[in-house]
Amino acid sequence: MKKPYYIDFPQEHVEGHMHKYRCAFCKLETTAINGTLEGHLADCEYRIEQEAKGYEALENSNKTTNYGTDEVD
Ligand SMILES: [Zn+2]
Repeated sequence: MKKPYYIDFPQEHVEGHMHKYRCAFCKLETTAINGTLEGHLADCEYRIEQEAKGYEALENSNKTTNYGTDEVD
């Protein structure tokens, strides 16, 4: 079972950055997480909780680690 976007995790403001938010659990920025479950750390409480509910990270399709690519289209 999958959700198109995983954005219902608790977020906190990144100090000193007006428009940056990060996961309250694994502290990764939302821009790095990019709405995906595998964007969280493997031991992130939110990710573990989602996986426990039966959701799963998307399989590795053709992308490895391409964080920070804003120009996808
Ligand atoms: Zn997280």
